[in-house]
Amino acid sequence: MISRRIVLHFPIDLVSDPIISRLVKKYDLECNILKADITPRQIGILVLGLKGENSNYKDAIEYLKSLNISVQLLSQDVTRDDDRCIECGACVTICPTDALTRDPLTGAVSFDKESCIGCELCIVACPMRAMKVCF
Ligand code: SF4
Ligand code: SF4
Repeated sequence: MISRRIVLHFPIDLVSDPIISRLVKKYDLECNILKADITPRQIGILVLGLKGENSNYKDAIEYLKSLNISVQLLSQDVTRDDDRCIECGACVTICPTDALTRDPLTGAVSFDKESCIGCELCIVACPMRAMKVCF
């Protein structure tokens, strides 16, 4: 049995494809959609939790790659460099778990590490490179 959280980036023409139902029916995986979004560049982003037999998981990843979908494992340890952060809020709207939030009164942007699932979406969004993955 394997349990993984992955990020998929896929072209807009695949957005309406029943990819999730295939993962469930053909590969017998439990799928938990953590985030689904389409970027302004018309790229679909799906953050998924997958659980199932190892061989099925491997086959499912191969299937996704065969569709030209980029598959990334979620990183676990994301940190914020508070000295770099200018509290612009770009990360707040993109964070799927509300680990990054803005205080409506003060405007301060907070990072709750416990709520972070390591999807790395904020790392791409941050103009100051304040969000980092620790390996
Ligand atoms: S995107 Fe970067 S600079 Fe802007 S609030 Fe988030 S961490 Fe701070
Ligand atoms: S990596 Fe960034 S965007 Fe993803 S859950 Fe953690 S704080 Fe939110």
